[in-house]
Amino acid sequence: MRIVLLGPPGSGKGTQAKVLTERLKVPQISTGDMLRAAVAAGTSLGREAKAVMERGALVPDAVIVGLVRERIAQTDCRTGYILDGFPRTAAQAEALDTMLRELQTPLDSVLSLTVPAEEVVERIAGRRTCRGCGRMYHIRYSPTKEAGRCDACGGETYQRDDDGEETVRRRMQVYTEQTAPLEAHYERQGLLRRVPGTGRIGEITEHLLQTLGV
Ligand code: AMP
Repeated sequence: MRIVLLGPPGSGKGTQAKVLTERLKVPQISTGDMLRAAVAAGTSLGREAKAVMERGALVPDAVIVGLVRERIAQTDCRTGYILDGFPRTAAQAEALDTMLRELQTPLDSVLSLTVPAEEVVERIAGRRTCRGCGRMYHIRYSPTKEAGRCDACGGETYQRDDDGEETVRRRMQVYTEQTAPLEAHYERQGLLRRVPGTGRIGEITEHLLQTLGV
């Protein structure tokens, strides 16, 4: 099961990818999580990516494509994966097409989560993430039981550096200009399925699974 999750920032890609990973038994490949891990570890990739991410801009295609190429070659990806936050540009989508053609492992489905713009802004403003296990919360819609502590691992929850208002506006603009056109790319390939990203998390998951036919 090789899947791409598309959708604007705050559409629930990360949340759904984490649930789908458990249901489908395939890993989540989140380029955003990989970059945040590199920033936290202070690697040369992390130092390069930090300023770009804080501006809400995109890390260069060649860097990201290299990361994904290495990741999908790992053994846990043999039965499939869920790509979350990649591809984000036409060049990345083309690089992925080429990579998968060479590997003879085509995508099964591209699921696009649709959410109205005003809802996305509210979701991002309240979004919190666990530093320990990466689990996500929303201060209103899915709060932690104890303020600032992850229910799953007890780690500290925090607001992402790039979730401030100014940066979110920039990320939305980048999405509209560079990522939204990928819907047409995958529609041409007959892979695109649009799924409403509004409502309860569990309902959206069921809708995604139904769309995948599992
Ligand atoms: P995300 O967690 O998917 O919202 O990604 C956070 C940030 O990481 C983005 O705003 C970009 O700066 C960077 N990033 C993540 N994935 C990519 C990608 N596929 N291409 C370029 N930059 C990315």
